[in-house]
Amino acid sequence: MKESIDLMIEGWHVVTMNVSRDIIRNGAVAVRGGLIVGVGKSVDLRERFDPIETIGGDRFVVTPGMVNSHIHITGEPLTRGYVPDDTPFEENVFMWLCPLYSVYTREEERLSARLAAVEMLKSGTTTFLEAGTIRFLDDVVDELDKVGIRGRVGRWIWDLPPEPAVYRQDTDEAIAHLQDQLERHPANPDRLVGAWSTLVGHTTCSDPLWKAARELATAHGVGLSFHMSPAKLDPESFIAEFGQRPIQHLADLGVLAPDVAITHCVQIDDSELRLMAETGVHVAHCPTTALKVSYGVTQVGKMPEMVMAGMNLGIGTDGNNASNYSDLMRAVYLVAGLFKDARQDPQMFPAEKAWEMATLGGADLMQMSDQIGSLEVGKAADLVLHDTDRPEWRPLLNVMNQLVWSADGRGVHTVVIDGRKVVENGRMTTIDEDDLYAAVQEAGESITVRSGLPDKSKYPSI
Ligand SMILES: [Zn+2]
Repeated sequence: MKESIDLMIEGWHVVTMNVSRDIIRNGAVAVRGGLIVGVGKSVDLRERFDPIETIGGDRFVVTPGMVNSHIHITGEPLTRGYVPDDTPFEENVFMWLCPLYSVYTREEERLSARLAAVEMLKSGTTTFLEAGTIRFLDDVVDELDKVGIRGRVGRWIWDLPPEPAVYRQDTDEAIAHLQDQLERHPANPDRLVGAWSTLVGHTTCSDPLWKAARELATAHGVGLSFHMSPAKLDPESFIAEFGQRPIQHLADLGVLAPDVAITHCVQIDDSELRLMAETGVHVAHCPTTALKVSYGVTQVGKMPEMVMAGMNLGIGTDGNNASNYSDLMRAVYLVAGLFKDARQDPQMFPAEKAWEMATLGGADLMQMSDQIGSLEVGKAADLVLHDTDRPEWRPLLNVMNQLVWSADGRGVHTVVIDGRKVVENGRMTTIDEDDLYAAVQEAGESITVRSGLPDKSKYPSI
């Protein structure tokens, strides 16, 4: 007798990302109770299982959902692209982004999170790590649950900058906020959204705050994430203040461990790289931001050396004024290409390695390798159906080359999270998209006016 299951997903090619990286032709994935219970040839799974519903078919490439290892879901999605693209780094952060973030209302943060989640889901990302810059965390978690995406989040935590006033907090307040978010939103495997120990990082945190965030991550069994060294400002400031580079300083404080995810790490020297490899930290590589904010990743970035040293890298899209899109497939394309050219070496990185970073690498970075990142029995049913009846997908002769070098998020047809269809035939099933687009336009115009920041569009609008 056949086993009854909730959902069968069938595909022309099923990219499993299992240990042997099998791509199953005419394959299928069987799902019951939100978990994968079978992966194999369609013909075999049809014999074994009796599904309530079957989706997919012979024009689809089925992959695990991608993991966006660093994204700001509030603050920037509603002001996407307002910051001119010729703005220097410091001016970008302190004169543009901080004022824009600080005028968001509670409802606007909720709307921003909805827009970010919808963009990720519709382009094949099923799990994300938020940068830790949310102001109204409870509302955002509630909204993410409604949309149906998986993620780890945190509120804006720092203790040194005095401005903007809405983010000012002393060390005790910052630690209390961290503790509160970890208690209110535990990152349990049975919940889609939970909190991490997140800091803004850079030069915004005192040593006691760094240590407290480390201790809280350990106590709650969650990861610790922060920004560091995208540009030269961080290493220069740490050297001026402590006489040592940031990674050395954090290692001496006892912050670094295998549950730490550091974003950017472009301006890293060889001794820092060795420390990072020794301590087992993960890096969220954000190629689009590096390009747009002129970090120098192709000149001085050590991502190939990190991989050669055995480090794990995930891929992030960051904020929508640094990367105007949150389509991780476009960032995967950059990861595959940037260092090939910079090092004049096609091994840096093959398409398969870039895709690995976007799936297994992200899962490992998020401490969720047992749950997501591949299509294997026992893992959560988080998967994406890419429609190959599109010009960029045909002819389909090499699946991984096509996935990384030809396709992007526009080809995503259906997305399943925890066995639930959240995108079907390119449209959200959980929210009304037309309402969303109207609301975000209105909010974006209102936020930019309230920020007092000028419209710096260079061409006249007539
Ligand atoms: Zn960021």
